[in-house]
Amino acid sequence: MKNNFSFEKISIVDIKVPDDKLFIAGPCAIESYDQLLETAKFVKKNGANVLRAGAYKPRTSPHSFQGLKEEGLRILKQVKKEVGICVVTELMDIRDLEKIYDVSDIIQIGSRNMQNFSLLLEVGKQDKPILLKRGIAATVTEWINAAEYIVMGGNNKIIMCERGIRTYNDYTRNTLDISAVPIIKRETGLPVIVDPSHATGIRDLVKPMALAAIAAGADGIMVEVHPSPENALSDGKQSLYFHQFEDLMTSIKRMRL
Ligand code: PEP
Ligand code: MN
Repeated sequence: MKNNFSFEKISIVDIKVPDDKLFIAGPCAIESYDQLLETAKFVKKNGANVLRAGAYKPRTSPHSFQGLKEEGLRILKQVKKEVGICVVTELMDIRDLEKIYDVSDIIQIGSRNMQNFSLLLEVGKQDKPILLKRGIAATVTEWINAAEYIVMGGNNKIIMCERGIRTYNDYTRNTLDISAVPIIKRETGLPVIVDPSHATGIRDLVKPMALAAIAAGADGIMVEVHPSPENALSDGKQSLYFHQFEDLMTSIKRMRL
């Protein structure tokens, strides 16, 4: 397959991908300063090198919590400074680009926007790494094409994120396509990470799928962690308890020995 991907290393402050693995963890959504601070401190202490947290949430129902938006970004900026950790947050709308650029070390394009071509072209003009999540029903080819839209603007710093696709399996929220990891690496040379939280929708499946991802050669993982998952305003069922994140990171460290 002909494509224009380069094989540059991606620097995120002092993280160098793919030499360093990306351990991205944090709540689905920023809910309050205390919630984010507590989570950020905990995940950093246990080996996360990037904090994830959404300020603008793409929710399936318009009646669900939509995120704290600008207030969320203010909290994220404050927590990032206080804890000293890189952050990633989702850009849903071009109009929010400047605000997100100001705080986020990596700009996330969510599944629902994987084929929002004007958004892809716009982030292609930016100089920050882009985390491109696979569309909910996207083929691998469509996902690679989406990355090519970003490259067209001149931005080669793309991290691909497999987050599960919709299939006939009714036991999990989506189906994790683990084979996409080596395929994307072979076809594009881009780093690939896996999000087992959105892929499964079930917290007890996050650890086995995260370990499978690392075993398949993923350059990292992105997982949702919450201080009190049963009270989370979004994605509580797939959010890890703190002790589960600690256990996951312990197992990953053992694997990598
Ligand atoms: C997220 O990671 O916050 C998210 C909404 O995931 P996805 O776009 O994969 O559904
Ligand atoms: Mn979520």
